This record gives sequence, structure tokens and C-alpha cells, in this order.
Amino acid sequence: MGGLDKMNCMWRKVHHRGEGSGGVSLLHLSCNRDPLVLSFSPMKEGLFFSLTLFWCCFATGVAAEPVRVSTFSSVLTELAERVGGPLVTVTGHVAAGSDPHEFEPKPSDLKVVSRADLVLLSAKHLEGYVGKLREATDGRARFMEVGAQMPSLWQEAESGRAGEKVEDPHWWNSVGNMRRAVAVVRDALTEVRPEQKEAFGVNARAYEKELLELDKWARAKVAELPRDKRKLVTSHDALQYFAKDYGFKVYPVSGLTSAEQPSSRKVADLLKIIKEQRVKAVFAEDTVNPKVLQQITAETGAVLGGQLWVDGLGTGEAANYLGMFRHNVNTVVEALK
Ligand SMILES: [Zn+2]
Repeated sequence: MGGLDKMNCMWRKVHHRGEGSGGVSLLHLSCNRDPLVLSFSPMKEGLFFSLTLFWCCFATGVAAEPVRVSTFSSVLTELAERVGGPLVTVTGHVAAGSDPHEFEPKPSDLKVVSRADLVLLSAKHLEGYVGKLREATDGRARFMEVGAQMPSLWQEAESGRAGEKVEDPHWWNSVGNMRRAVAVVRDALTEVRPEQKEAFGVNARAYEKELLELDKWARAKVAELPRDKRKLVTSHDALQYFAKDYGFKVYPVSGLTSAEQPSSRKVADLLKIIKEQRVKAVFAEDTVNPKVLQQITAETGAVLGGQLWVDGLGTGEAANYLGMFRHNVNTVVEALK
């Protein structure tokens, strides 16, 4: 796949004017791309043919068709772009700042997916529509359930039988999981395009290094906050992986999906915890209505500590993973200090 065998280079002389060395040839060259028309004198044609061959061979090495990747999370979009670099074309179907729990693919999404070489999923039951995607590709694309390649945290189900546990899909809020995801995406791209293994490896190592630095920075920043102040009251239960890494306890208003509405008993319990434990601040999310949080602040004296990006990338400084993570850590530490 790809490389020289994918290119089909042709040249032909289409016109010749004049006689002898003063004549001009119009040479028509096409290599799976827009034709290139050059004028040349016959004396230099030999040299031209050599140059043509060189151009063709050289160009095919770098101009092999990029791997078409469809992603279903803004974090996976960044991962594919960073690891794939110019060797991939990425379509992010779930926009940054939007709610992945509410996402449903439209016919236009399925059309793009039908042409994809690789489909990247968050997994851990986040994409209930995966059957539609598989149907759209008709078995032609490779599917990689990135989140399924790392251990899960399980939370008490909001509804259903007592003691029932549900898989927490928010794995990207752990930098350690992101580092695992880099390797998973690198290997998935390499399977699709083995001849680019080295380039994917170089890109992955560079990104992994940035993530290592990010984790080091986050640990130092969180260390500014005494352990008994590491309490996160958030709109929905999206920060358990983060909490496990940095020693926080999470008190979510809603469960694992942003659509779940809290019962009045749950809100009453939260009010009690916040008052008893003297939690200084609670945190809103862009994608979830902060009405309940406003009620909490009004009744407990805790302040709104700011907005966190927990369901993927955000906007402004949170438009990339490193910025998003720094924003969350800074917001939490400064508000709870
Ligand atoms: Zn969520």
C-alpha cells in the first residue's frame, strides 16, 4: 500500500514546433495529480527525462496518499494529528467543546467514515452508535477502541439495581492514560501504513515527552494543595481518573453522563458534605447546565471555582490537550487553596 506502487506516472510529448535544436517540445507529465506541462528544447530532452524520473520517484515517496482517519473525540483528533503529522488526514466528528455523551453521527458523518482507513474511538461504552459506523465502512476500515486498551475505573450506577457498576469512559483525564493512547494510536497507524513506522514513532516520542513534562508539572502544582482540600464538586462524574492520579475525592452532581439529573436527595447529601467538609469551591462545565451548582453555592457559601473542560478539548487556552489539562489543574488548585 502507498509509496511507489500507488503512483502512476506518465509523460508524453504532445507538440513539437520548429526544427533542430531551436524547436520546442511540450511535455505533458502526470503522476496521480494535476498534469504538469513543460516546454523543452529537444537537445535537453534526455536530461529532462532523467529529471522527470527523479521527480516522479522522489515525489511519490512524500506524496503517498495520507491515511484517512475518522475520530469520535476531540482528544483523539489531537492524538491522530500529532502522531500522524502530514501523513494523515483527520476528520474529527465530535467538535471540541461539544458533549460526547449526546453525540449521534449524522448521514454526513457516516459518508466520511465510509471512506476512512482508520476509525478511532474513545470506547468504554461512550460510542453507543459504533454499530452504525461499522456498517458504514462495510469492513474496509480498521477500528481502534483506544480506551479499551487501558484499565477501567467502575462507578456506582445512578439508576438500576443497587451495587451495579458502570464503566467510566473519561480515561483521557489521566495523563498516564494519554501516554498509553499515544502508543495505541502509533501502532494503529503503523498497521495501516507500515512503511511510515519510523515517522509515526518519532512523532509519538515527541508528544509523549510533552505529556511526561505535563504530568511532572501537574504533580508539582497539585502539591501546593493540602490533601484534605483535594475535593472536587463537579457537574458530572468525569474526573475519577484525574482524582486517582492526584489524590482527589470527587463529589459529582450528576453521574457518568452529563444528561443524568440529580435527585433532590442527592443534592441534599452534597449540600451536607460541602458544609461539613468546608469545601471552598465547586466547578462548572461548559457542556452541562450549572443550575444545581448555583443552588449549591447559594446554600453553602462555596464559590463557583471556574469552568473545567472534562469531556474533551475546549476553546481558547484549552484548545489542545496540554492547554486543557493545565487549565483544569490551575483552576482547581487556585480555587481550593
Ligand atoms: Zn462526561
